[in-house]
Parts: sequence; structure tokens; C-alpha cells
Amino acid sequence: MRIYTKKAVSIDEITEFSLPLREHLKGISFISGLRIVNRLVSNDGTRKYLFALGDGHTIESVLIEDGERLTLCVSSQVGCAMGCKFCLTARGGFKRNLKAHEICDQILCVSRDIEPERKITNIVMMGMGEPLSNYKEVTGALKIMMEWLNISKRRITLSTAGFVPELERLYSDGFNVNPAISLNATTDDTRSMIMPVNKRYNLKTLLSACRRLPIPERRRITFEYVLLKDINDSAEDAARLIRLLKGVRAKVNLIPFNEYDGAHFKRPDDTTVLEFQEIVARGHISVFIRKSKGRDILAACGQLRASN
Ligand code: SAH
Repeated sequence: MRIYTKKAVSIDEITEFSLPLREHLKGISFISGLRIVNRLVSNDGTRKYLFALGDGHTIESVLIEDGERLTLCVSSQVGCAMGCKFCLTARGGFKRNLKAHEICDQILCVSRDIEPERKITNIVMMGMGEPLSNYKEVTGALKIMMEWLNISKRRITLSTAGFVPELERLYSDGFNVNPAISLNATTDDTRSMIMPVNKRYNLKTLLSACRRLPIPERRRITFEYVLLKDINDSAEDAARLIRLLKGVRAKVNLIPFNEYDGAHFKRPDDTTVLEFQEIVARGHISVFIRKSKGRDILAACGQLRASN
């Protein structure tokens, strides 16, 4: 606990402990940490960190500035097993789950790296990996964030490709952070094609779970929707999206596809994106186009890969 509240990197720094206790602790333990291997700064101020873990694997975190807000997008796994067809992280496959401390170490490491007067205000669990397929360590990390790092649950968002039982369990276990769902399609055919997880938990199952989620009165579920040219960006898709979200306290974030070398999909043009937004808005749903930050350094959504 002291380690987290003091952001200590060595046992010597925990001066609240007596000298003999510190010596004893040093003999039997150490404070693990991540090593910054690379730090890229985008021309919009977004920073991408490449970290090395104790076993040599690497992960990425992205720090996004937006006015007063300083949001850190953290990874929950090395790689990802979800196999979403549009996502660069999926291409490298799955390596291993992160431990709770490795998830929190991303926050500590970046906190120490930024200007001392700046403070990370928001956390999004939207980096590499599917947080809900690493339930135990991710909830362990959420506990540390809320209890020791003093980050309110209102400032933590967890994004899932749609692990329904774990999503329900998260709220019944009392981790009522802001939920975000990567919806990305409006028919089961298209969704199963681009997101294999849909074969396990289809749209109906996912959305009925969303309707039942015990989220507080004034909060909403964010639905992320990656717009892929000619795949899910039609006017019919927009109209279907309104119908799908009937009865869900929803907010939609449209993410025009972020391209990368070798991608099989294209980003729709701006007019298509705006038209899509307009149709959804007519259905009385709050709908935003996510400003994709850090695209020049491959730090935007779905561009994380952890290569050197
Ligand atoms: N596994 C979690 C969190 C990681 S993905 C999840 O699926 O929610 C974070 C977001 O990035 C998801 O909404 C995903 O749909 C989106 N995304 C992935 N690749 C993308 C790309 N190339 N362009 C734009 N968004 C992308």
C-alpha cells in the first residue's frame, strides 16, 4: 500500500518503515517495475510508451492530453487472443496475461515520467488485450487504482469486446467503473466476421446484458463503433444501430478506422462519417466522432503492437 501511495521505486524510499524493517524487506523482496524502452511523442502531444516487463515481453500505454484531462490508456495483456480482424494488436497473437501490479506499474511509470505538476486524471482500460479475459488481475488492478492510487471509479473506463458473463460479474462484484463496449457492427453476420467473439456472445445476448447492467442513474454505456469503409458504414447500419440501442442508456463513439501497413480495411471518407453520425443523432442518441490522437506514431485505437 505504501508502495502505491508513495509511488516508491525502492524499499529505501519507504521511510515510514524503520531501518531494520526496510533491511529485512530488502532481504526477502523487491519492488518490481517496468522499464521504459521507448517513448514516442506525436505532433498532437499524445505520447506512446513502450515498456519492457521482467520477462522481456513488451507492452504499450498511451497518454492522451485533452484540455484539463490527462488520460492514460493501459494494456491488460501482452498481445490479445480476440482475433478482431481490423485490429493490429490481434495480429501478433496472445502472449500472456498481465499481473495486477504490471497493469498499475504503467500508471506509476508514466506518472513519474511526466512533469511533476501534471497528474493523470483518467484511466481507460483500452490498450492491448481484452481486460475481461484477465478478470482476476484486472479487478485486482482496479482495486489498487481506486484504493491506493486515489483514482475515482468515475474516471476509470473499461472497454470490452463483449465478454458477457464477466461483464455482469464485474458489476455484481462492485467494480462499477464506466463500461465501454466495442460494438463495431449492427448484424451478427458482420460482427462475427470482424469480431470472432460474437460467435460466442451475439448481439442479442450482449445488448440484453447491457440493458440489465446496474449502472448508476446518470451514467451511460459507451458503445465504440469502428467505421470500416463498405463494411459497417452504410445508412442502413446507422438506422439499425438506433434500433439495437433502444432501451439502453447509451452513448456512441464513432472511430473512423485507423489505417496501418497491411490493413485489410479502409477508413471511410469524412462525408460518410458525418452522415452516419447525423442519422444516429436523429435517433436521439448522443453520438461523437472520436478524435483519433497519435495516429502519426501508431498510438491510436487498434494500432498498438509493442514492437521495437
Ligand atoms: N479488447 C478491448 C480493448 C482494446 S481495443 C475491446 O475490444 O474493447 C480498443 C478499441 O479500439 C476497440 O473499441 C476497438 O474496436 C478499437 N479499434 C481496434 N482497432 C482499431 C483500428 N484499427 N482503428 C480504430 N479503432 C480500432
